[in-house]
Amino acid sequence: MKPRYWLVLAGLLALVLIITAGVFIYNRYVPAAGRWALFREIHTNRTLFEQYALEPGMHCGDAPFAFPTHGVILGLWQQSYRFGHTHSGLDIFSGTQPGVTPVYAAYPGYLSRLEDWRSTVIIRIPSDPLQPGRQIWTYYTHLANVDGESFVSEDFPPGTSEVYVEAGTFLGYMGNYSGDPGAPTGLHLHFSIVKDDGQGDFLNETRIHNTYDPSPYFNMKLDHTNNPREVPVCEDVMTFEDWELVGNNE
Ligand SMILES: [Zn+2]
Repeated sequence: MKPRYWLVLAGLLALVLIITAGVFIYNRYVPAAGRWALFREIHTNRTLFEQYALEPGMHCGDAPFAFPTHGVILGLWQQSYRFGHTHSGLDIFSGTQPGVTPVYAAYPGYLSRLEDWRSTVIIRIPSDPLQPGRQIWTYYTHLANVDGESFVSEDFPPGTSEVYVEAGTFLGYMGNYSGDPGAPTGLHLHFSIVKDDGQGDFLNETRIHNTYDPSPYFNMKLDHTNNPREVPVCEDVMTFEDWELVGNNE
């Protein structure tokens, strides 16, 4: 072949690669805009908030887990918030103020709080209700204010180890502590279901492959790859398009 053909071929290949990358990036990041478009509205429009808000203690259908707080789920499992990031849990927004909205245990188990945890508790579940015999963990975080003042219940001081709690036990209040004072996260509860390391300890929940898809535990569409736009609600999932159609986009 003449050099010119090689150039044309290389150009076409580059074009295909650019288009493929563009489609990949679009699918991965942009569709969540449908759900995130509600972010500001749920904080300012209480009627709209209540339309999507789930109630604490609610079981969706035959879901084993009870919903842990009062709020709207905007951050899903496997969602990317920024390049290279994959979200390992659920982010539930209450639209209130730090230290106001209670958080409860979704399922019974044995609660621990490490000595240096200001805003976090973890609950060991010896037998996964969906896979009996398998040990799993439920992780609740951001239960502190921007300065790191803890909102975790006084029943669970730092160093708490293996205290049995029933589903519905009060764990603390929703906050906005990120671990870095001065760089608060938006007010929300981060909840994740964490894998056991096989030695009776929990794995690092910030890594997506150390966590489970919460969808079957709550009986809702909570995996971002299967639900890139909709706000998850129980049974009847209202889409962002529906939300616009009912006139809430003014
Ligand atoms: Zn989160």
